[in-house]
Amino acid sequence: MRKGTQNTIRKAYDRKLQMVVTAKEAAINQGFEPNRYVCVVCEEEVYVAAAYSTERSVHFRHHRGNNNVECEYYLGQLTGNTDRLSFKRESREVGEIYFDNKNRNFCLGLRFSVDEIEDCEKNNVFIELNTEDKNRTLLKIKINRENFAPDTVTLFPLARFSSSYYLSFSSEEETSKRLFFSRSNTPIFFRMMGHDQAGRCKYVRGGVLYTNIKYVVVFPLKKSSLKNQFLLNEFDVEDTFEFKTMDMRFIGMVLSIKYLSKNLVSLLKSWNYKAETSEALTILWPPTYLTDNKCNVNADYIYVYSSFNLIPKGNTNVPRENIRLVTSNVSRINLLPQSIIFKKNAEIIIEKKDSITFNKKHIQSYARKANVFKVPEDGLSYFMFNCYGVSQLTVNQTVYMTPDSLIIGYKHNYPVTYIVQDEHHVKCGNELLNDILAHYKKTENFDESKIDQNRLSTLALQYIKKCEIDGKINTVVRHYIEEGLL
Ligand SMILES: [Zn+2]
Repeated sequence: MRKGTQNTIRKAYDRKLQMVVTAKEAAINQGFEPNRYVCVVCEEEVYVAAAYSTERSVHFRHHRGNNNVECEYYLGQLTGNTDRLSFKRESREVGEIYFDNKNRNFCLGLRFSVDEIEDCEKNNVFIELNTEDKNRTLLKIKINRENFAPDTVTLFPLARFSSSYYLSFSSEEETSKRLFFSRSNTPIFFRMMGHDQAGRCKYVRGGVLYTNIKYVVVFPLKKSSLKNQFLLNEFDVEDTFEFKTMDMRFIGMVLSIKYLSKNLVSLLKSWNYKAETSEALTILWPPTYLTDNKCNVNADYIYVYSSFNLIPKGNTNVPRENIRLVTSNVSRINLLPQSIIFKKNAEIIIEKKDSITFNKKHIQSYARKANVFKVPEDGLSYFMFNCYGVSQLTVNQTVYMTPDSLIIGYKHNYPVTYIVQDEHHVKCGNELLNDILAHYKKTENFDESKIDQNRLSTLALQYIKKCEIDGKINTVVRHYIEEGLL
């Protein structure tokens, strides 16, 4: 077999998107995260190779070399059914080290699915955490419904310091090592999971940090000089505190990386971290509710804002025909039972719940009411939803509310303010027309063919006659006339 032609792996299982993807699809998305792709035959980790090569086509490769003929032979015969392959979850996905910023201690966080809990309960499986010397058991706990709620992270405080911990299941022989504190006592980064500072922070595994993401950085008090390293302008330090846990004193800092620079990159490199620019991903509509790491949506579709293009099988498991680009960053997605979008720091898993048509009346009670809305400069991102779809609003933009329009202001990923039309103070007729003309000055060229003059009210007809003479029409008035509101 000639090297570089047949004996390459073209497909692998993507643990993030939970489906089989081709090397080409992975390369387009530049999804080169460690531990993301596994060989569908031997279940060993593979990585994207020759992504930038002009000589060889992109393929997956085993870390130990590409010499497993069986894997390659089998992959040559793959049919379309591989998407249903299921892969055993690694124990690294089950457990992770957390910093609890409320109690200021380190914890082991464990999470299991309903099936896993039931399975373990049946087989009487324990999970065990040991320190480095392996003879000190820190935690031994039965995996059952009493101890764990499905799909929710349960935290167990770590009572003893160790530079690494070993996690094992009583049902399996292999033990997984969780490296934690580095021997050199360099800073350790935890990513803040909630939006408040009192929440749980997850250990950054894989060593990649992103801009504009809040982290808690921790290092031993005896290395307090490290604090000065964070004086770099590239860091935005919000809080610095001291705490004691596991009989040791530590310094903690709440911070984010504002921008990347050569200095910063080399500093982080010396601590074994890499830095990248973050991606943004927000569900705009409909409102969602979070259960642990999943967004639940009571609808068949969502509008999503993303700073990157959605690539089927590259950064989403949603097929192309379900995705419609509304504006350059807003897409409408027809949901699968479970839709996943993942790129760099941005990750959402959306569970489609029983479809309930969202009734605007639900939010009427707490929505602000206005007939004219001027977008304030308050740090929120405002989006308008109406029968035309969704559009992002800019600061100081003036919007005329119609009965079917809704504006939502978002902070981070959460809708925090709703604006609907003030139905009790709806102006109509001449009063409305004058009000629009007074507040909204934007006009456009008048196009007679767009307006059906036979269906116009007397008031609209009068206005249109004026437009015919001027050759201009007020944009908002045109919308109102088209919708039969004037
Ligand atoms: Zn293999």
